[in-house]
Amino acid sequence: MADCIFCKIVDKEILANIIFEDEDCLAFDDMNPQAPVHVLIIPKKHLDHMDHAAEADEALLGRLLVAASNIAESKGIAEDGYRVVTNIGENAGQSVNHLHFHVLGGRKLTWPPG
Ligand code: AMP
Repeated sequence: MADCIFCKIVDKEILANIIFEDEDCLAFDDMNPQAPVHVLIIPKKHLDHMDHAAEADEALLGRLLVAASNIAESKGIAEDGYRVVTNIGENAGQSVNHLHFHVLGGRKLTWPPG
């Protein structure tokens, strides 16, 4: 998608601190971290958000979540606990319309979220 920031990160037109990449997924540090560890995991293929995923994307969604788990392990936050979240649409506060999972950890997280 021409005007999508995250597609530009996939295409390396915008720099990000990439911490994991395979043929389908990319993970990079959030530029405005809300916790000591705050990583975004995205599919390379553009989907506006999770509700635009089709049956054919089931494996892709699984890969993103397995990547989240692996990143939590490699960042050292798995043992103490962490959060994986995706915002969908305006009420959830989605600000970038390219599906992404936030991986947040390294501090005690409050619940419910605001
Ligand atoms: P959301 O509000 O769920 O759509 O989350 C979008 C996230 O993307 C926010 O946490 C932003 O800080 C983050 N973000 C936006 N642009 C960039 C960028 N160029 N590099 C890294 N993170 C970004």
